[in-house]
Amino acid sequence: MKAGGLKALASDPTHSRGRRQPEPAAPNRNDYQRDRDRVVHCTAFRRLVYKTQVFLNHEGDLFRTRLTHSLEVAQLARSMARSLGLHEDLVEAIALAHDLGHTPFGHAGQDALHDCMRQHGGFEHNLQSLRVVDTLEERYAAFNGLNLCFETREGILKHCSVRHAQELEQQEPGGVGSRFLARTQPSLEAQLCNLADEIAYNAHDIDDGVRSGLLHVEQLNDLALLRELREQAVFEYPALAGRRLLFEMVRRLINLLVADVLAATQEAAAVSGASDAGEARRAGPLVCFSAPMRGATDELKHFLMHHLYRHDQVMASMARAKDVVRELFVTYEALPQRMAPGFAQRPDRHRAIADYIAGMTDRFALKEYARWTGRDAMAGLSLAGTPAAGVAFAAGGAA
Ligand code: MG
Repeated sequence: MKAGGLKALASDPTHSRGRRQPEPAAPNRNDYQRDRDRVVHCTAFRRLVYKTQVFLNHEGDLFRTRLTHSLEVAQLARSMARSLGLHEDLVEAIALAHDLGHTPFGHAGQDALHDCMRQHGGFEHNLQSLRVVDTLEERYAAFNGLNLCFETREGILKHCSVRHAQELEQQEPGGVGSRFLARTQPSLEAQLCNLADEIAYNAHDIDDGVRSGLLHVEQLNDLALLRELREQAVFEYPALAGRRLLFEMVRRLINLLVADVLAATQEAAAVSGASDAGEARRAGPLVCFSAPMRGATDELKHFLMHHLYRHDQVMASMARAKDVVRELFVTYEALPQRMAPGFAQRPDRHRAIADYIAGMTDRFALKEYARWTGRDAMAGLSLAGTPAAGVAFAAGGAA
């Protein structure tokens, strides 16, 4: 199939299921462009710059944050969308918004907040991303939230439990929760963003892992895929070593994964026989890796889980981060006036606390913790003390 061959299956803003509050069309932009612009201008988007992806923000300026991660996802998704003929503005809107609901301190923060909210409906970052764009942003005179199009909102709600889907269905019959009950797929643009997310974090976590000194380039030889990429790079450039070798391996990894998704997706779409966006949604997941590449990426994820995300030093920082979230929760539960006024006055106290904490950046959470407890949550814990490539990388600055 030729480049752009999935154009017939692409989402079309002129056929959008629309916004929850009807608005007149913008004179110079399509509805998905307008959604993308609203995301970029919102407060939650700017907060992503000080939210952790894997490492805590204070540990070095060159590690990925949620903001740089979101930009990398948007770049990958947009580039793949162009090759496939899918709607570039829609993928960009979804990609830039996909992590808006993340708490400070990455998954550790979310887990701690979920524990605190167990008796009060729980906490889940995908649902929170939807809450941010549907209600929490207060920028427009006519409505709460950003009033995004259905297709953007459904892409943001990447996962959803049946229980949460049923709750969403009650609030919005036939809305973004429905597909989790009907077990249908979201748009191909939403499916594409999920894979772009996966490609981005697998690639950048290798880079950040080595930069931090917690992973060593040699360890990557455990993975057949990375070993092969390294051999290719060294075959072409025999003197290649150090961080240039690492960057070359990561660059080749991204190219390989992207090329694989493009080919496997075009094949899956052809096999499905889907001829428009509606049929594509009913055809099962069409944006995919080939089976061998799915196996290799699962192996890579497993490797990163074992050697990086569960590294003792990462776990130690994460344990402290969980304490911060728990302490803040308990503090605001007892003394809601310690929150910003808009949150302190809300009648749904526990959800207000969850919204307030989830909206914090890592450093604001640490400041609040120090302010109310008098303690430095991260005292004595830092990757900067690691005698490793991390320091040299940070000092040299990355390309
Ligand atoms: Mg992500």
